[in-house]
Amino acid sequence: MIGKLDPTRKKSIVIGGGIAGLIAAYRLVQAGQTVQIYEKSNRLGGLIQTRVLDAGLPSMRLAETAAHSFLASPDVLKFCEELAVDCVQVRPGCKGRFVLWRGRARSLPGGIFGLLGPIGFLGLLFRVLLARFRAPGNLRAWGDRHLGRRATDLLLVPFLRGIYGARPDDLNVEMTFPRLVGLPGHSLASRWIGEKITRRVKVPAALDRRARSKMVAPRLGMESLVRALEAKLRASGRCEIFLGQELDPGVLNTRLGPNSSDANWVFALPAPALCEIVARIETLEGIEPTFSASLRRVKQVPLTTITVFVKDSVFRRGAPKGVGILIPEAEKGRQCLGILFNSSSWEGRVGESSAPAKDTRSPAKDAISSATPDARSSYTMMFSSSAPLPDDLVRREFQAVLQSWGCRLSDDGPANDGWETHPTSWPRALPVYGDDLRAAWDAASQGFFAKPGRVWFSNSTGQISLRGMIETRF
Ligand SMILES: Cc1cc2nc3c(=O)[nH]c(=O)nc-3n(C[C@H](O)[C@H](O)[C@H](O)COP(=O)(O)OP(=O)(O)OC[C@H]3O[C@@H](n4cnc5c(N)ncnc54)[C@H](O)[C@@H]3O)c2cc1C
Repeated sequence: MIGKLDPTRKKSIVIGGGIAGLIAAYRLVQAGQTVQIYEKSNRLGGLIQTRVLDAGLPSMRLAETAAHSFLASPDVLKFCEELAVDCVQVRPGCKGRFVLWRGRARSLPGGIFGLLGPIGFLGLLFRVLLARFRAPGNLRAWGDRHLGRRATDLLLVPFLRGIYGARPDDLNVEMTFPRLVGLPGHSLASRWIGEKITRRVKVPAALDRRARSKMVAPRLGMESLVRALEAKLRASGRCEIFLGQELDPGVLNTRLGPNSSDANWVFALPAPALCEIVARIETLEGIEPTFSASLRRVKQVPLTTITVFVKDSVFRRGAPKGVGILIPEAEKGRQCLGILFNSSSWEGRVGESSAPAKDTRSPAKDAISSATPDARSSYTMMFSSSAPLPDDLVRREFQAVLQSWGCRLSDDGPANDGWETHPTSWPRALPVYGDDLRAAWDAASQGFFAKPGRVWFSNSTGQISLRGMIETRF
């Protein structure tokens, strides 16, 4: 969040009814404010949308357009409990995450040795233990120094493309993972050990086994969170929601002008949408368009997600077991960034689909769950383009990824066995957390958002995940 609310104002105006705007409104109502939400489109939720197919259990199927799950930190669990949103955990034995390399899925962290080879693995150990922190730059330089080129290519790049949709050369370390910016003179290992001993800084979630094991997904889809927030806000009697409405620039100008003190303004907008509003205000006020120009330079990542449904009978030995599989750029010939979500790994997300296999230590067996013949599983694939993708390409990519995941597909293949796809494309899905966004943050906090009573809160302001948004204090 950039900027500060003015606690003396008892009213707030939230522009943008995506998940960030709804969370902000909810927190403000909890703090005793009256709130108005203005949403440009005719629906709340923004990027988040759940298509419910064959409504009614046990055959219900859900296709998410964007967020699917989140890390269940104490704040997140409390938030879901307040909203009565039932969350399901990843099934036992299905928590694995994989990286595809040379046609085979390697589980993480267990398969790192196989992925990097003996020399790469020793190089990684050496760097984690000895490479000392330097002034932060982009994540490519950080990765090369602290993990080595091979580990950066095969581990860091797919991980970053899975979260930010962007390449490490374009991502700024301080903005994406501030905790990676270490103490001068320390290596990753020495700082981690220091943190463990002093316990002054929490262990990063990615390294904390307990936190990692608590990935949860709303049982009825991510949009149930949007619906629950909307219901709570309406029931509070202190929130008005205006759909299909943009604020008139004249109103914005008079009410945001220098003498205005009637309301807090929460701009729950991604950089391009904020840019449009700021540019209009700058024109009305006759001031230099410096802030809007900095917002205009912020690059956006285009993305397409495709949720694929297939019958479990497509798999000869059961559907793949694990949260998802990512594909490094170095794995040539693949257009897909990976399968982000395997819904069947979450209890109850695909009706009563794939039953979990017994937990086993064998990586090969661990990657497969046992199937019930007519159950259908869903897999959300991600592509780094918003251009339409031909169905045969999607099928080829899907089959190649699943085969590498240790699944033997029946001879019919998915084409003849319940194959169904639900694509969603955004030319501007997520902001690139790079130097241009950093410059826009600086311009924001020194200019437009310097005055109390105005804040910018969205996936462009540091909280790209829902967990980060939920944990933000207003
Ligand atoms: C493929 C994908 C997968 C993801 N997976 C996960 C995940 O598993 N877990 C997780 O935590 N996060 C995930 N995320 C990230 C998360 O979904 C987003 O960061 C989040 O939904 C963004 O919310 P937002 O409210 O900031 O923006 P948006 O959802 O873009 O909402 C902005 C809203 O503002 C409205 N608006 C625009 N202009 C105006 C205007 N002038 N006036 C009024 N309203 C306006 C828009 O219509 C929209 O409703 C994923 C994202 C993607 C793309």
